[in-house]
Amino acid sequence: MRHLLDLPATALREWLATVGQPGYRESQIRGWIMQRRAVAFDDMTDLPAALRQQLAAEFTLWTAKVTRHSQAGDGTEKLLLELADGGRIECVLLRDGPRRSICISSQVGCAMGCVFCASGLDGVDRNLTTGEILEQALLLQRLLPADERLSHIVVMGMGEPLANLNQLLPALETASHPKGLGISARRITISTVGLPAALDKLSAEETRYNLAVSLHAANDELRNQLVPVNRTIGLDAILTAADRYFEASGRRLTFEYVLLGGVNDRPEDAHELVAILRGRPALLNVIPYNPVAGLPYVTPTASAQMRFREILELAGINVQFRERKGDAINAACGQLRRSTPPDSQPLVSISLT
Ligand code: SAH
Repeated sequence: MRHLLDLPATALREWLATVGQPGYRESQIRGWIMQRRAVAFDDMTDLPAALRQQLAAEFTLWTAKVTRHSQAGDGTEKLLLELADGGRIECVLLRDGPRRSICISSQVGCAMGCVFCASGLDGVDRNLTTGEILEQALLLQRLLPADERLSHIVVMGMGEPLANLNQLLPALETASHPKGLGISARRITISTVGLPAALDKLSAEETRYNLAVSLHAANDELRNQLVPVNRTIGLDAILTAADRYFEASGRRLTFEYVLLGGVNDRPEDAHELVAILRGRPALLNVIPYNPVAGLPYVTPTASAQMRFREILELAGINVQFRERKGDAINAACGQLRRSTPPDSQPLVSISLT
């Protein structure tokens, strides 16, 4: 059976024509799935009963099973999903004032190998399909009461989104479409380790989204250690490709910097970072390291964080420290993974299935 969420609108309209149905049924069906939170074709009560049966015979709406639902005291919720082939991914709902943001995955695992991140510990298995990417958003949306809507998407879950642009972009198109999830493209951020060729493809094809580039080091020697994929790319190529995205999109860039105690949090690291960022219309998003079971890194002390921040601020760099959310359930940045770590149990575990 085909996954309905994988189907572009035109393909669904073509299928509808083959069963003698008008094209407008397509937007009716999408509306039911995206906005009215239908869980089965039978919920779509304004479709003819025969069409509902034909749809159910031909398509599946859900391919993922929620195998664990964890909630943290700060309002963060995490879903562990098992895909049709047994692959496992995680995705997160974050609450911040009126914001209802979701963090979604783009691959099963990750091939980039960043040494401080849980998502790549077991390597990459495969790319997610468009439908699997959308399914995460829909399952997370269902955690909200009917009168609340998702407001932001960050593609910062498991995987390297720019390694899966072909499946990701149609999913974000549906997410941002007024008749889809209706989340403005300005509230959607793609975070990348920095793959220049894919960045250029994005600059050429789709510039409505915010781009966040994971820097983590201001020189190639250190970055090669922290982000192994850098060895064949290099900072210069990433920065110039990011600049080209800025020129094409006009959207301010974000650079991310995981702060690792004793590794990249020294004053000289901050000064080197200033030299790179000065003159670039960018926001620096510093993420104090979120602990990952089994990894040797430490979160810098409050005073080391403050010292780092002050150097950047004094130099006029626009800097924000990312608030840690969801770490009680291993849902914070860099803590999502394919396998369950032995020593982490969620505070609250609710089964949805
Ligand atoms: N592959 C994408 C998305 C990664 S997740 C990318 O590289 O940008 C989003 C951010 O969380 C990235 O900047 C990533 O490097 C960072 N991150 C990974 N592990 C982390 C950890 N243990 N603590 C804090 N941030 C982490």
